[in-house]
Amino acid sequence: MIAGHFGFAALVKSREQRVPLWALMLATVWLDILFVPLLLAGIETLQPVPGLRGGYGENIIHADYTHSLVGALALSALFSFLCALRWGKRCGTVLGLVAFSHWILDLLMHRHDMPLLPGNWGQFPKFGFGLWQNRSGSILAELLLILSGAWFYWRAARSVSASAHVAQVRATATGLLILISGIAVLALDVTGILG
Ligand SMILES: [Zn+2]
Repeated sequence: MIAGHFGFAALVKSREQRVPLWALMLATVWLDILFVPLLLAGIETLQPVPGLRGGYGENIIHADYTHSLVGALALSALFSFLCALRWGKRCGTVLGLVAFSHWILDLLMHRHDMPLLPGNWGQFPKFGFGLWQNRSGSILAELLLILSGAWFYWRAARSVSASAHVAQVRATATGLLILISGIAVLALDVTGILG
């Protein structure tokens, strides 16, 4: 799930115009960005679901620090704090919530592999509704997020440029860019090129 998170970022941008789009995009994948070095260091791991190839949605993800509920809350709070220093309290709060929205969206997709506490301390039951078990359902959910994100972004950007009496070409171009790049990222993810 990568493209769906970007779709959600565009959706938030249509409501919170003062927050930069790139910062929203960064916020939605903040937990996954931190996952990469931990994965390379072998602290967090991926394990293909028995019998599957380990492609799109076919992994048990042991992201026990970045994707534990408490870990995700702490990392989102950190992100929020850093953004508040740069853009003020309101933007910081929005970006912190968007960073944590990653965990909520992942919760729908993940195969029951998201722990409560960092490092799966205490071995509490894990979370994840496992939408990935249904491949076409997952792709459809991501596609819906991209389409609605691009649509709401385009509508909001158009009305902003209309009230500022500037050409709407830019709003339309950015909306299209969100749509096309979202679908491209989803296609790469599904075909396994993104791993
Ligand atoms: Zn994730």
